[in-house]
Amino acid sequence: METFNIYNPVKIHFGAGVIGEAGKIAKKYSDNALIVTGRNSMQKSGTLDRLVKILKNAGVNSIIFDGITPNPTTSEIDSAAGVAREKKVGLVIGLGGGSPLDSAKAVAVAAKGDIPVWNYLKTPAKEALPVITIVSTSGTGSEVNRYSVMTNPETGEKPGFGYECMYPKDAIIDPEIMLSMPAYVTATTGFDVFVHIFESFTGKARNAFSSAYCMQTFYLLKDNLIRAYKEPDNVESRSNMALASALAGLAIDISGVGIMHAMEHPVSGNYPDIAHGAGLAVLAVESMKYNLNACKRDYTLMAHHLGIKRAGKSDDEYAMSLIEKTEEMLTALNLNIRLKDLGVKKDKLPKISGEAFTTMGFAIQNNPETIGEKEVLKILENSY
Ligand code: NDP
Ligand code: MN
Repeated sequence: METFNIYNPVKIHFGAGVIGEAGKIAKKYSDNALIVTGRNSMQKSGTLDRLVKILKNAGVNSIIFDGITPNPTTSEIDSAAGVAREKKVGLVIGLGGGSPLDSAKAVAVAAKGDIPVWNYLKTPAKEALPVITIVSTSGTGSEVNRYSVMTNPETGEKPGFGYECMYPKDAIIDPEIMLSMPAYVTATTGFDVFVHIFESFTGKARNAFSSAYCMQTFYLLKDNLIRAYKEPDNVESRSNMALASALAGLAIDISGVGIMHAMEHPVSGNYPDIAHGAGLAVLAVESMKYNLNACKRDYTLMAHHLGIKRAGKSDDEYAMSLIEKTEEMLTALNLNIRLKDLGVKKDKLPKISGEAFTTMGFAIQNNPETIGEKEVLKILENSY
């Protein structure tokens, strides 16, 4: 019988309009908050202004740091932590996609100490400022988990880290904020959800709880991933994708990720213009083929949960149908692309495969099939 512990302290506020509760929630922690956000989208949609007003009405002062780029760098995080210290904020609010949310958690840790955020990869953080996440994409699950991913701009290394003190206190998940996502962001972040549940469901660290989150998420993706992409104003699909992102975020909080994430982080670390989900899209099919033999039965279960008809297929054929379905999904999302289409230079592949091990070793260890650097390089070449 397996033994495990489950812990996730994040209070989740879900539904259209729940951003209106942000003031009341923030006030529990502090009357002086740092909002960590990106450079464009939350300003353009008016969500940032709206949040500042909601906070003000509750008596919470806000300071804005809007310098977070997609695939955020340690220098952005260290700058924001400097502002947090200087302004003596008692709360960090992440507003945006995975990049600002991950950054908010890292800022909350770095603001408490006086060392660069990169050092926390080796020095476990014991305390952090309270964090509230207000998520604007449906992909990373960062809104409900403890992970933060950051890029070292000098080396291209892109590790993830996560300590108990980094769990957000509250997650505000308001699908209306996601309506403004452009099609490409909907596609790439939605595919990230699929990879989270694929890797969580097959990973060595999975357990009954992570698998339960995954099964419900497969069911949600079946009807909503492509619909949200094709019908951007469909609030119900947006809402179901927001739910899927959070459930998958809870799943990976328990059971981690695998080789697709291990390989993708060095891809978007070395090429910061590549969206995380696009990097995953190019690596998915070859990675699934590599893992097929180690988890054939899981593939058939996932095929079932995605609604693929069995119709007389043998076990092997039914397992394979999951890979075919993934290819179909990628085509429908216009993400059926190759590594070279993303501008990755072929001579960078050895560096990328090396960094999969040095920066994402835990994901390599968690992968269902044992894998070495030679095999990772082969998957990268086959995906090129
Ligand atoms: P980003 O947060 O990087 O956002 C991508 C782009 O979409 C940005 O240009 C952003 O604008 C824009 N955008 C975000 N929300 C909206 C919206 N509602 N309307 C219009 N535009 C919008 O994308 P992701 O959510 O995919 O986050 C990716 C990061 O998260 C990566 O660094 C990845 O490695 C990490 N990650 C973290 C995980 C975790 O568990 N913590 C798991 C998986 C990935 P702007 O530029 O203004 O921000
Ligand atoms: Mn991911």
